[in-house]
Amino acid sequence: MFLNRLPKVLVFAALFLAASAVWADFSTLPTLPDGGRVRSVNHYFDLTPRIAPADVETTIVIQPLFDHVRFREDCKYELTYTAMDQVYAPQSPMHGKAKPVTPADNRLTLSFFLAGEQEHLLVLEEINADKRRVMGEFHLYTVKSDLLPLRPFKGDFHMHSNNSDGAESAPYVAGACRRVGLDWMALSDHRKYEPSAKLPEAFQGVPIDLRIYPGEECHSPDNPVHIIAFGHNAAIRDLYMETAEPQARAEIAQLQDKMKKVPEGVVKFHYASCKWVTDKIHERGGLAMLCHPYWVTGGAHNDAEPLLGALLDSGFFDMFELVSGNGSSDADAYDSNVLQAARYAEARANGLKIPVCGISDSHGCESNETFGRNFTVCFSPTAELADLQTAIKKGNCTAVEIMRGERPQVEGAFRLVKYTLFLLREIFPQHDELCVEEGRLMLSHSAGKADAVDRLKACQGQVKALYDRYWFTGK
Ligand SMILES: [Zn+2]
Ligand SMILES: [Zn+2]
Repeated sequence: MFLNRLPKVLVFAALFLAASAVWADFSTLPTLPDGGRVRSVNHYFDLTPRIAPADVETTIVIQPLFDHVRFREDCKYELTYTAMDQVYAPQSPMHGKAKPVTPADNRLTLSFFLAGEQEHLLVLEEINADKRRVMGEFHLYTVKSDLLPLRPFKGDFHMHSNNSDGAESAPYVAGACRRVGLDWMALSDHRKYEPSAKLPEAFQGVPIDLRIYPGEECHSPDNPVHIIAFGHNAAIRDLYMETAEPQARAEIAQLQDKMKKVPEGVVKFHYASCKWVTDKIHERGGLAMLCHPYWVTGGAHNDAEPLLGALLDSGFFDMFELVSGNGSSDADAYDSNVLQAARYAEARANGLKIPVCGISDSHGCESNETFGRNFTVCFSPTAELADLQTAIKKGNCTAVEIMRGERPQVEGAFRLVKYTLFLLREIFPQHDELCVEEGRLMLSHSAGKADAVDRLKACQGQVKALYDRYWFTGK
């Protein structure tokens, strides 16, 4: 009734202000480079472990870190448990019903049997006389024993420096990689190996946690297919460029002769050349990735459709670049990733097994939309090169694409996609906050600031410490 007497414009103004107060609270949380945010409850409380073993009883501790959330003597507390996939065992906590819990020494210790590989939600409420308020919504995840010892490492191994057609010098690219939350990276300059192999020298004696590995984008003569080499120990370009070219062509011709038949529509030379490049990458300890087949260049997709089909079936490649970088804002640049995802889904339905990766193909860390937003998550015991390569070969990786202002798209095996989505919401934001700080200091070191080394030393090991705290290790 009262509202009816007010001019309508005032009603709308009041509603707008109320709505923007809520929005302001959300929007003032700092945004990370990939668009994620640390949920405030993850700042206020420590919940350990956050990744626990499936199908066993685990002790979970919720500890307030600040005075505004501390457990009070004059209040009662209740907890409501929900399993996201609705997988419950008879020993699981009672779901959907608030249950009294008792904190001691300003911490809540609970023993839970958590069933299945899934996310779990714990809603903690504080009851003061007849007033009830939610103190926090806590999310944790349980994994089976094969996944539990592995840690998620974010990386990108397709990007360019000014040693080919990128904007920035190589050490700048490395610092920027850490700043956007990557654990490992490789430069992949066009027809260049040295810039990636020499990059660690720029941080010699500097305490950094970013792992820097060799990479190279290979373009063998007259072969349109772009191939990334990752983690190899000698240049591929030296085998096909300048004086080496006649030898390369002779070897490819030999391969062509040995190949009796290629599928209809496939240029045999292109197919043989891909076999030759990928063999050379493997001989040099690297992994070979089939890159951006649906990148539009000169009005056409980069790889001819019959050739792409033959290459996917060939077994030459260790991985498929499912999430490519969109070098331009043209609609067809975005379409390429949609087509790659659809092509992969169809090929997989027909029995193809090939691991998928996400990369930025950045040509400028400050200007490329996909830098830090498209990446690969490897589930691996460590971020050492051999472990990452094994993880990729086994398909223990997911391809992530986060378009500005949107929620992430994740591709790969279903159980890893589900797990990655949890990590992107609940763990990576905190991981990334630590990386931002380290990346800025790496850039500062590259700019010649003398105090950066000491400040980096103080940061060293902080991501590992976060993972050690959050993952159940049985101790
Ligand atoms: Zn390329
Ligand atoms: Zn590239």
